[in-house]
Amino acid sequence: MELALNDSIRFIKGVGETRLKLWEKAGVLTVNDLITYYPRSYEDHTVVKNLSDIVPYESCSVIASVVTPPVVNRIRKGMELLKFRIGDGTGYCDVTFFNQIYLKNSFEKGKTYLFYGRFEGDILRHSLTNPFFDSIASAGIDGSIVPIYPLTKGLSEKIITKTIDEAVKLCIDKVQDPIPNDLRIKLELSDLKSSIKSIHKPESFAELELAKKRLIFDEFLTLQLGLFMIKNRKTAENNFVCNKSADEFVASLPYSLTQAQRKSIDECLNDIKSNTSLNRLIQGDVGSGKTVVAAAVAYAIATSGGQCVFMAPTSILAVQHAETLKKMMADTGLSVSLIIGSMSKANRSEALSKIASGEINIIVGTHALLEQDVIFKKLALIVCDEQHRFGVAQRARLTLKGDNPHLLAMSATPIPRTLALMIYGDLDISVINELPPGRKPVITHLVNSKKRDTIDKFIAQKLSQGLQGYIVCPLVDDNESADGLNNVKDYTKNLKMTFPTASIEFMHGRMKAVEKEQIMQSFLKGEIQILVSTTVIEVGVDAPNAVFIIIENAERFGLSQLHQLRGRVGRGNNKSYCIMVTDSNNPDTLERLKVIASTNDGFLIAQKDLELRGPGDFFGKNQHGLPNLKIADIASDTRILKLAQDTAKSIISEDPELRKSDYALFKNNMIKLFEMQKGNFLN
Ligand code: ADP
Ligand code: MG
Repeated sequence: MELALNDSIRFIKGVGETRLKLWEKAGVLTVNDLITYYPRSYEDHTVVKNLSDIVPYESCSVIASVVTPPVVNRIRKGMELLKFRIGDGTGYCDVTFFNQIYLKNSFEKGKTYLFYGRFEGDILRHSLTNPFFDSIASAGIDGSIVPIYPLTKGLSEKIITKTIDEAVKLCIDKVQDPIPNDLRIKLELSDLKSSIKSIHKPESFAELELAKKRLIFDEFLTLQLGLFMIKNRKTAENNFVCNKSADEFVASLPYSLTQAQRKSIDECLNDIKSNTSLNRLIQGDVGSGKTVVAAAVAYAIATSGGQCVFMAPTSILAVQHAETLKKMMADTGLSVSLIIGSMSKANRSEALSKIASGEINIIVGTHALLEQDVIFKKLALIVCDEQHRFGVAQRARLTLKGDNPHLLAMSATPIPRTLALMIYGDLDISVINELPPGRKPVITHLVNSKKRDTIDKFIAQKLSQGLQGYIVCPLVDDNESADGLNNVKDYTKNLKMTFPTASIEFMHGRMKAVEKEQIMQSFLKGEIQILVSTTVIEVGVDAPNAVFIIIENAERFGLSQLHQLRGRVGRGNNKSYCIMVTDSNNPDTLERLKVIASTNDGFLIAQKDLELRGPGDFFGKNQHGLPNLKIADIASDTRILKLAQDTAKSIISEDPELRKSDYALFKNNMIKLFEMQKGNFLN
């Protein structure tokens, strides 16, 4: 039967009703999904060793014959063992299969097989549990490289491999290569068909590397082309006339700006005055003073007659920004208003009508700003604070509320340039790489929980001076099954016993937004002395009276996260402290935590963090707002990423809208990739 790549997988041998559902759960619907369901790793069965050469805990293959007939032992209900011994002339090994007695007939005494697994026991008495095995005929005498697929409930590795094999055999000829041949040869990439074949069934590791390189390249190129196209459209033109500077505003500030702050403001205003859209990300460490930079840009735009929006990820932050901006704008004649989810109806509709009439110049808010009834007279600038909290799609939605408004994004998570080009492929980048003068670094200690008494004394002392602090725990309550980790609820109970007269509250991500906000507000007012919390306090809140942050089970947090948490203190005139508590004695963990204790440089910390954890964990699940990639990894495949970026740049400069038929397939892939995200923003 003729199968097309878009056909359902149910036409493939071995896929019945039941398995169809299981595959669907893994997101595999079409034949194309199936052949691009890539292995997550490979087992190297090509290294065949003599049993006498194997050291315990080594993973490798042996070719050996069955020397005792397979026997079944029933240990208890639900626990059946299949056991036999194998030998290769240099030694013996005991093989055990748990609960797979149906394999009994697969082995015959005297016959030879390939076994792969992790050898246990000792040199004199090897053992293997649930090894991979194959008959010598099909393994080939050299063994082979066996793909390991991401497991899906109900589908075994063998079934997955077989089904994909079948699909590749049937349909590989239907695959069309999106890269024009001469370009492909110039880039030294293998063709798509053979790459797909090899990724599932590599003959050698060299071949596998080439296949991976090609498939990773395709994903990067598709993604980067998409991002560059979005950027091109945005920068196309902008008719908003900005004829004011920010000089008066800057002069009115109670402090003088740092060099880096001035430079960032200039970069933004230059973009704006060049009649193209501002599409810029400001990267600056916690406390580097990004808010005032955005405020200066907003001032120039608002005094030129445009409205400006400040979007913050939480209401607490929005409220704080609104207050800050009101103060900053007090003598400018510009008006500032707030839109958040928890406002009263009357307040909200009053604000909305003033926004629609243009009476309000600067609007601060949360996601509530995205709602349909928020209409602007002349939206000319969007500022996204803590931009990693917003998806590209959300940014785009706000953009639609104006006539191609300028965009200024701010982030306290600095990342290396290649990566920034990908994650923020649609943005230019300014960096604030210095802190305002006189900032005292937060004094940071790494201790173990034996220091509990000292910590308690320290807390008591700070409280008696009328100061406040945070304590961060990794868990919310003890329902979460993780041994020895502190949870917010129990911790608070215990803390209240230690400090019976102190006012202590807790906060966590499962609480309603209003609840969290109330707690945060009373903390800001000083009504709460110690706030025990999960990482929900992470984002840019400014509580100048908070001088300590104690992070329990510090080993559970990423470096960038720890740095962000530390940035919650040290915002006032008092000496501030960050105490990381860990009982881990893993040298790698301690090494990692020492990075935080040894530097306050957010860029350095982010770089280390990225190296150590990879981008998935670094950005948190989907926090970068990019579509999911199947095989490429933006942190570790940087060389291919660079190649794809350069290629994308030259393609786009030659054919900005990808109209040439040469790139038609890429355009399709691109649309598919971005559509997988909610809110398609390519249209
Ligand atoms: P972040 O970059 O983390 O968002 P903020 O914009 O909240 O930092 O600024 C942190 C604090 O630093 C604020 O209290 C702000 O008023 C202050 N600040 C910003 N720029 C300067 C400066 N040039 N000199 C002194 N203080 C500054
Ligand atoms: Mg901030």
